[in-house]
Amino acid sequence: MRKPLIAGNWKMNGSPELLETMTQSLASAQISSSVDVAIIPPFTLLTSAQGLLADSPVALGAQTLHPESSGAYTGEISASMLVQCGVTCVLVGHSERRTLFGEDDQAVLARVRAALAAGLTPVLCIGETLEEREADRVESVVLGQVSAVFDALSAEERSQLVIAYEPVWAIGTGRTATPDQAQQVHAMIRAWLSDKDPALGEGMRLLYGGSMKADNAADLLSRPDIDGGLIGGASLKPDDFIAICHAAG
Ligand code: 13P
Repeated sequence: MRKPLIAGNWKMNGSPELLETMTQSLASAQISSSVDVAIIPPFTLLTSAQGLLADSPVALGAQTLHPESSGAYTGEISASMLVQCGVTCVLVGHSERRTLFGEDDQAVLARVRAALAAGLTPVLCIGETLEEREADRVESVVLGQVSAVFDALSAEERSQLVIAYEPVWAIGTGRTATPDQAQQVHAMIRAWLSDKDPALGEGMRLLYGGSMKADNAADLLSRPDIDGGLIGGASLKPDDFIAICHAAG
């Protein structure tokens, strides 16, 4: 059985105050141990988060990393630096990184490799734009993004990943994919993975992201191939984020 994962991607938001409120709220929320929870604040809050989450089952994630391990890369952060901050998972290939910072499939793969080498869980983000959906290209775009990474990894490496399907048109727009739309894409991704290796398809956690909120989470999470959520806006509001965590349990 796949354990659901609810991860809150704060993006370039948050403050020490929010971090404290969030960690306190999560600590008293009595979230079921059948759900994995992670918060993914900006780099500047990671060290404080490491301290605040020291005795907590809530995991700490990072939003990106640089593929090199050290050197003259002004402004960048390596996988080993994330490990030093207590980070255990890292987003790779978020559509905002792909679109705004020009990360192509090769750049995404390099980051996945660096994360794996450091023992981090890469959360590979994929998803089509509205234009691509309207042109009936969901399958080719999404599976293209998955295969660009998975085809280059060993069986052992593949099993370490988490995939987050985030249709670009649903991110930050309030326009959620319907549970049927999301389930359809998740089932397609799982079928592709199972075709490579049945155990890989069976075990892979497929998260949905894109305007997942307290009031639509239960419906999305009830679908057989949706194993959790990558939450943006609603992860900045402790009550909303905790409601989503409860919906997964
Ligand atoms: P929203 O939940 O704000 O749509 O963001 C989703 C997302 O991009 C999470 O990575």
